[in-house]
Amino acid sequence: MDEFSKTEQDYLKAIYQLEEKTDKMVGITDVANYLKVSAPSATEMIKRLAKKKLVEHKKYYGVLLKPEGYREARFIIKSHRVWETFLVEQAGYQIDEVHEEAENLEHSSSKRLVERLYTLMHFPKTDPHGSEIPAERFWEGEIITHDLNHAEVGHRYEVVSLSQEVKDFLVCLNQDQPKFMTLSSVLSDGSVIVRTDDDVRFVIPHFQKNGWQLKYYSH
Ligand SMILES: [Zn+2]
Repeated sequence: MDEFSKTEQDYLKAIYQLEEKTDKMVGITDVANYLKVSAPSATEMIKRLAKKKLVEHKKYYGVLLKPEGYREARFIIKSHRVWETFLVEQAGYQIDEVHEEAENLEHSSSKRLVERLYTLMHFPKTDPHGSEIPAERFWEGEIITHDLNHAEVGHRYEVVSLSQEVKDFLVCLNQDQPKFMTLSSVLSDGSVIVRTDDDVRFVIPHFQKNGWQLKYYSH
């Protein structure tokens, strides 16, 4: 479990969502209204978050997220949206049934679990409601790899390891082993075109795709 309480996470998420709607500092009363709590209890909680350096609290002006608070808010949003996606795609829920479940699951899930589910579902870009799922990773404790069969067009991958067959193939192409590459397109026979960071493009035949072990890097 992470070091933040459910209440702290709810406040960070609320401030994040209010910040998205304004270019000014978020007022304490806005936070209180959003969370349906009294202004004094919102003030007290925000002072606690400020003490933990998660937010900056300016008297009379309001509150704003500091980097660590921002990151935790993004994680909670990712957790919520990953769970909604999982419930619809893998557990047979209807779209209108998932929000309440996700409201609870978002707080009780470790960063490792959320990132595992995200990888398992091959890095969905949006949840079932169409909201964007943050792509940054919150758990780096282990390298999660998968082969090129599970890569997605437009995503950039770190090349973790290659089979001997693939290494021989690259020698034939006179191509160095790429450190990073982006999947450009999938052809009708299942072979793929990839682009390295040096902007070199080449085709990888379908039967060699399981020889590429990749780690998801970024969009
Ligand atoms: Zn929801």
